[in-house]
Amino acid sequence: MKKKILITDKFAQDSFLFLQQQSHFEVVRADNPQHLPLEHLVSAHALIIRSRTQINEELLKKARQLQLIVTCTSGFDHIDLDATEKWGVTVMHTPTANIESAAQLTWGLVLSCVNNLQLAHRMMKAGDWNRESLTGIELCGRTYGIIGLGRIGSRVAEIAQVFGMNVVAYDPYAEDESFERLKIPRLSYEEVLKTADVVSFHVPKTQETDYMLNRSHFEYIHRGIILINTSRGSVIKENDLVEALEKGWLRSVGLDVFEKEPLPRTSNLLNFPNVILTPHIGANTEDAFFKASQVAANKLMAFFVDGSTSDTLPPRAPWYGATPFKGE
Ligand code: NAD
Repeated sequence: MKKKILITDKFAQDSFLFLQQQSHFEVVRADNPQHLPLEHLVSAHALIIRSRTQINEELLKKARQLQLIVTCTSGFDHIDLDATEKWGVTVMHTPTANIESAAQLTWGLVLSCVNNLQLAHRMMKAGDWNRESLTGIELCGRTYGIIGLGRIGSRVAEIAQVFGMNVVAYDPYAEDESFERLKIPRLSYEEVLKTADVVSFHVPKTQETDYMLNRSHFEYIHRGIILINTSRGSVIKENDLVEALEKGWLRSVGLDVFEKEPLPRTSNLLNFPNVILTPHIGANTEDAFFKASQVAANKLMAFFVDGSTSDTLPPRAPWYGATPFKGE
């Protein structure tokens, strides 16, 4: 009997093109990643999804034939892993497919902040040729702080080194080897926030990282710092960030992720000329979509051919299930 595969997101369509050629699969696509067609969901043996498809118990109850979910993403907070475990569904992700894209967007935001590109662009469009208000800084010789020295954080660090920056990092779970390979000193969270000229967050969403940057840290953060978050919106308490911006404590801020997505039109973050915002596009490149879709299709084939698995979820990482962050 053919295995039925439901692909829920058009940005995973390369999986469709690949699997469609395999005679032992029936592959169907959903038009809307948030509302899966019941007639296909009830009979699907596998789902290929991205983060717009939320996996919860309610959905799993309907998907009675489901054996496998592959998410074409590195993050997995859109999947209730307790529920998939309870229902005996194997879950895998594609954590390496979007490293380059996410690191590249992080750097896009850094460079925009450093040279006031967002403000310069807005002023030019308004016919305002005011060079005096657009003085930037040089990165070479300054300090770059990485929070979370995993796959994306490490790549961002390598690029910072190309700019001639001194890179420091905080990651209580990364092996010493990760620091040694890049010749990066391991600092405490407080030390990084106090010393870095630019800091970017690359941590997963966990209880421990929820609001790991809040008022208590803005009180002592290096004045004039450039702050970047391309990981998860839950990491920064936005009201406290707005307060720090109002006080003029931050040089500029680049955010790709938000506490609530889409970012509400009423958000105060929209009011600051030194804040650049992008709508969660860290993995949105043709190349990352293609790589993730292809890797997902390969994982799915291997699973149904000989039961093999890789990059399964929950991850076997020391930070998974860590207790809530107490501040540092
Ligand atoms: P990763 O698992 O390779 O790295 C995460 C690192 O964070 C690990 O080294 C881990 O030890 C560290 N960490 C965990 N808890 C920590 C804590 N409390 N304090 C400091 N460090 C901690 O993950 P990755 O693939 O590098 O992805 C990083 C983040 O980027 C994830 O949240 C992912 O969802 C997000 N992401 C966002 C986009 C986007 O579109 N903006 C794209 C890709 C990934």
